[in-house]
Amino acid sequence: MSTEVLAKVDVEIHHTDCFINGQWLPAKSGKTFPTINPATEEVIAMVAEGDAADVDAAANAARNAFDSGPWREMDARDRGRLMYLLADRMEQEIESLAALETLDNGKPYQDSLNVDLPLAIDCLRYYAGYADKIHGSTIPIRGNHFCYTRKEPVGVAGQIIPWNFPVLMVAWKWGPALAAGCTIVMKPAEQTPLTCLRLAQLAKEVGFPDGVINVVPGFGPTAGAAVVKHPLIDKVAFTGEHRTAQTITRDSAETLKRLTFELGGKSPNVIFEDADLDAAAQGAYVGLFLNQGQCCCAGSRVFVHESKHGEFLEKLKRLTEQRKVGDPFASGTEQGPQVDRAQFDKIMSYIEKGKNEGATCVTGGQRVGETGFFVAPTIFDGVQDDMSIATDEIFGPVLSVLTFKDKEEIIRRANDTFYGLAAAVWTKDVALAHEFAARVRAGTIWVNCYDVFDAAAPFGGFKMSGHGRELGEEGLKAYTESKTVTVALQ
Ligand code: ADP
Repeated sequence: MSTEVLAKVDVEIHHTDCFINGQWLPAKSGKTFPTINPATEEVIAMVAEGDAADVDAAANAARNAFDSGPWREMDARDRGRLMYLLADRMEQEIESLAALETLDNGKPYQDSLNVDLPLAIDCLRYYAGYADKIHGSTIPIRGNHFCYTRKEPVGVAGQIIPWNFPVLMVAWKWGPALAAGCTIVMKPAEQTPLTCLRLAQLAKEVGFPDGVINVVPGFGPTAGAAVVKHPLIDKVAFTGEHRTAQTITRDSAETLKRLTFELGGKSPNVIFEDADLDAAAQGAYVGLFLNQGQCCCAGSRVFVHESKHGEFLEKLKRLTEQRKVGDPFASGTEQGPQVDRAQFDKIMSYIEKGKNEGATCVTGGQRVGETGFFVAPTIFDGVQDDMSIATDEIFGPVLSVLTFKDKEEIIRRANDTFYGLAAAVWTKDVALAHEFAARVRAGTIWVNCYDVFDAAAPFGGFKMSGHGRELGEEGLKAYTESKTVTVALQ
């Protein structure tokens, strides 16, 4: 274990209250809830348990900042400048932010430091560059009229995020909202509120005006639902489970919120006969085990051509058995604990189901250690399409291997899921790759790669995996309204 890295765990927890109108405030109810270190099961800190009353204060602050505060009048370039400053501050504090992320979430410190934080910083910079480049068009219409559109901010954005990529989800949500000129009421996940609260403080310190960013930690059915129902909030951007999105859709009916959803998946990762098997095995390994398997786009259904099954499985098994599971702050750790007891129990129950339904557990299948929510990287072979480990999103380090014979069959089976977030294909045949990309109904298709993300590349789902896209230019659309202006010229 590296003492250099461990020293960073001593990072002080400064912010556990609600951040509303530039102030740190306890929940109006006075209630708090614990946030747990999933590696030790110890309480890290007690956090304000915001609910409807706090969301109301946050919504009012965000509304005032949007309607009459300096934000609305601010030059778009200055708005972008503030975003760059926030990204710079994050870069200056990257080690303590990464440590805080690892403490609260359990992901390896090396991943927080080298993957999550850099991607989040990059995302904010990407959208900072957009702040002064959001504009409408001039439109030739009949008669003697001048017609043009304005792209205006949608208003107050309610943002509800999950626990699997806490810092990155903040950047994905704040980036386009701030660039577009919206103000924000964010509810971080109850499992991982700490980095979001820290980022709110950094935003304050670099000069974001009061009320532009508000953060209300708390639980989904109370604080989250209050964001969804609040009449002063114009839109809700949500990342999480499809069942929660269904509740949000119902709860938002009264106020007709604009909604964007990024939900779950059961993504097919398809390896054809002609694929580079070493690369495909590596892609299958990373595509599922990254982030303890807690990725909405995890390649959890790995389909390999039957002629390559044995060879592929051998390679995949070798990689998986070498995976280093343990203290997320220790150097060399590749896999930390699952985020909490509920996720751990759910994953262990799916492992039992896989065994009971007749799949073969070729490696893993058990808990690691006795403290902390560690699960051994697990591969099931001989999986059939109708087994629950092949149909349900497990959100853990459990990979299912299935086989196929031909193209038509595999495209049908790849699509045979109510999700449609991502898919991958491994082949040297360019035509086949493009045909797969065109015919598989998913928001992202990776060809001979997996989990390649970039702030410029849109991400989101078909079917029950959501609607709307985040990232890229498309990600801005969710935060703008189009206004048509027509001027009589005589
Ligand atoms: P997970 O099971 O991965 O935690 P959820 O969809 O339950 O996924 O949670 C994602 C986010 O949605 C969290 O911030 C959670 O608090 C919030 N949430 C849960 N239920 C609701 C709800 N009814 N309304 C609004 N937000 C909710």
